[in-house]
Amino acid sequence: MSATNTMATFRYKTFGYAAQSVGARLTPFSFERRALRPNDVAMEILYCGVCHSDLHWARNDWGWSAYPVVPGHEIIGRVIEVGSEVTRFKADDHVAVGCMVDSCQHCDQCRKGEEQLCREGNTLTYGSPDRITQEMTQGGYSKHVVVRQEFVLRVPEGLDLARAAPLLCAGITTYSPLRTWGVGPGSRVGVIGLGGLGHMAVKLASGLGAHVTVMSRTPDKEADALALGADRLLVSTDPDAMAQAANSFDLIIDTVPTKHDINPYMPLLDVDGTLVIVGQLGNLSEPSTVPLMLGRRRVAGSPIGGIAQTQELLDFCARQNILPECETIRMDQINEAFERMERADVRYRFVIDMASLTA
Ligand code: NAP
Ligand code: ZN
Repeated sequence: MSATNTMATFRYKTFGYAAQSVGARLTPFSFERRALRPNDVAMEILYCGVCHSDLHWARNDWGWSAYPVVPGHEIIGRVIEVGSEVTRFKADDHVAVGCMVDSCQHCDQCRKGEEQLCREGNTLTYGSPDRITQEMTQGGYSKHVVVRQEFVLRVPEGLDLARAAPLLCAGITTYSPLRTWGVGPGSRVGVIGLGGLGHMAVKLASGLGAHVTVMSRTPDKEADALALGADRLLVSTDPDAMAQAANSFDLIIDTVPTKHDINPYMPLLDVDGTLVIVGQLGNLSEPSTVPLMLGRRRVAGSPIGGIAQTQELLDFCARQNILPECETIRMDQINEAFERMERADVRYRFVIDMASLTA
């Protein structure tokens, strides 16, 4: 992919893997990226993480998917070209892109660096209309991408490129609530579901000095949970163990990807504790207000995180040497990876090595 940005009609030819219709297997797909605007950065994608949201989107679990869709929003790349007004990046820089590629940039939330809460709605990395041309954005299961510089992150020196990708979604989505709720030394944090988001929640909460408990459906991941930095694993299907843990958490991060019952978890919060949902988008099984009212407990939600905080996270992880646990796959293994993710058979994030993607 190379050209000058002076040709208004020029578009980058690229290729990737797309779902062409609801639930279809991902197959090779050739498409185009926009010509560089003055504030755009073009990059070759080196690695892309596989998020459960990619699977939700490919299957239209949320009801608003458009097709064809090239999923992928945990992108690590190398700059190949920059627009004439780009000041922050130059060719060959190692860069990253997460779940958003644009926002209005002028509302109160954008000005605070909370672009994920943009009043006009942010532009997602895939499946959103571009703010200028209205063409659908396409994600990181591809060879190249073009993104405005405000939404491009710098990969700090020393962060392993092959393992950093999951920080761009699983990392920031769990780091953001840890920061919102002021987690630090002495905080008591629970994490429901030890998958992509869950394992990052454990590493990050532990890195911030918290006492961390994993809540998993079986004891199978206990050794892993401890190795990741958790202090213990609580089997969420064991009523006695759950009862013993009553009133023992300040914050619980719930990463379960499907409709579920939060009632068993609510009594585990201490007074004023919060259960923050970052997984299921949609209905829950009927929640009871009893534990909410009697313990002055709260239920909250949290979407990804802002660009400045994502950079803070990347820098924090480089300093603390916190890296996701990755299983590297080839692009043509993506359908098998989706199937394994659906069975919760991933320890703990698939990352596609884009060198395996050839035209
Ligand atoms: P994942 O890797 O598949 O992990 C989900 C974990 O949840 C599994 O490992 C499993 O852990 C547990 N789980 C799975 N099915 C369950 C069920 N039916 N009941 C109870 N627990 C179950 O998924 P992920 O990539 O971490 O994503 C998790 C969710 O977060 C997805 O819905 C995704 O769309 C969402 N998400 C939200 C945001 C946001 O901005 N808020 C950002 C990214 C992703 P155990 O085996 O340990 O029980
Ligand atoms: Zn994601």
